This record gives sequence, C-alpha cells and structure tokens, in this order.
Amino acid sequence: MIVAIDGPAASGKGTLARRIARHYGLPHLDSGLLYRAVAQRLLIRGEDLGDAAAALAVARGIEPKHLDDPALRGRHAGEGASIVSVHPEVRAALLDFQRAFAATPRGAVIDGRDIGTVICPDADVKIFVTASAQERARRRALELGARGEPVDEAAVLADIEARDARDRNRAAAPLKAADDAVLLDTTDLDAEAAFAEAVAIVEARTRRPQRAIGG
Ligand code: C5P
Repeated sequence: MIVAIDGPAASGKGTLARRIARHYGLPHLDSGLLYRAVAQRLLIRGEDLGDAAAALAVARGIEPKHLDDPALRGRHAGEGASIVSVHPEVRAALLDFQRAFAATPRGAVIDGRDIGTVICPDADVKIFVTASAQERARRRALELGARGEPVDEAAVLADIEARDARDRNRAAAPLKAADDAVLLDTTDLDAEAAFAEAVAIVEARTRRPQRAIGG
C-alpha cells in the first residue's frame, strides 16, 4: 500500500505520516528532508541557493545517510529547501530516489508537497493535510522552542506565509491537492484526533467492496 500525504509547512503531515507508517508497518520517507539536505549542503559550501546548476550537482549526490542529520530540521534548512525546490532540475534529480523508496513490495508512506500529484500519482491513499497559517505558526514555534532555537512567533508566521506562497506559486510541481486526495483540516484537531481521522481515511480508501449477499 502506498500512502501519499501532502500539505503545507507545519500542517502536521510529518507526524501523521510517521504514525500512519508505524500503524501499518510501512517504511516512511519525509521527502522534505531531501530538499533540506540539498539546501544545507549548498549553505555549508557558501554556494547560492538560486544557482540551479550547483543545486543539481548536490541533489545528484544525496544518499539516505544524509537525511539523518538533526540540523536538517532547523529553520534555515527549511527556508533554503523551499528555495532550491523551485528548480525543476533538482526536483527531477530527486524523483528516482522517492519512486524507488515507494516501489518496494510492502509499499510506503511518503509525505511532502507533490507526492500525490507527481511522485506517486497512483498511490492507494492520498491525504492533503491543511491547517490555518496561525495554527501552523504556533505549532512550528513550539517545535523550534523545544529544539532550543530562538523563537519569535511573528517571524515564524511570516516564514510560513512566504514558504506557502513560494510552494504554491512555483511552476514545477506546485503544492496542491491531487484531484483524488481527501482533505484533512487539522486546525482544530490535536495529534491524536488527526491520527484517528487519517486512519479512517486509509480504511475507507482501502476497504474491499462487500460482496452482495445472495446477489
Ligand atoms: O516538508 P518540509 O517543511 O520539510 O519541506 C521543506 C521545503 O521543501 C518545502 O517548503 C518545499 O519547498 C520543499 N518540498 C518540496 N516537495 C516535497 C517536499 C518538500 O518542494 N515533496
């Protein structure tokens, strides 16, 4: 079974994807880490995130072991990721990695921005997770605070809004729900309730049609 979970920054899709993967015993890929890893490597080398050729060269060298670095979860890597991810060449270079991850006999849970639309258009289940920008900023600020990063909630909201605009308006694989995705708005849901809803969506999508009795 392949489960595609897309949504904007800090919508809760990552936590949801991890829990869904654990619940169904499936491997999980947080595809944002791929773009974050590209951005972080460029930043370390002092290279320009807007330089498509430099970003492509880095993207081609990304390996699974690069995704374990806790620094990738920080604010700079996230901002940088949304800049390098506009380059179509970078997206193309990371496509095989993601498709190969999904192409195991068991399947996978992958979360990101274009999983249901581009990476796994035939996924068994597609969930598009949303929440208001204010609520997402509140959650992201809590998360950054817990990591020991300095937090200014207004700045976090501004980052989220800028990231939303870039992700939704880019030409290559913009953030949008697939036509056959189920929308899950988590603004008023805690993690537990969001998980219960997501499981219900998976169950509804994968339930085999009942045989008519006596028919
Ligand atoms: O999900 P996360 O916040 O880690 O993603 C960081 C950035 O990477 C996003 O803002 C987006 O620009 C980019 N991204 C993407 N496609 C994906 C996953 C992430 O363009 N499938």
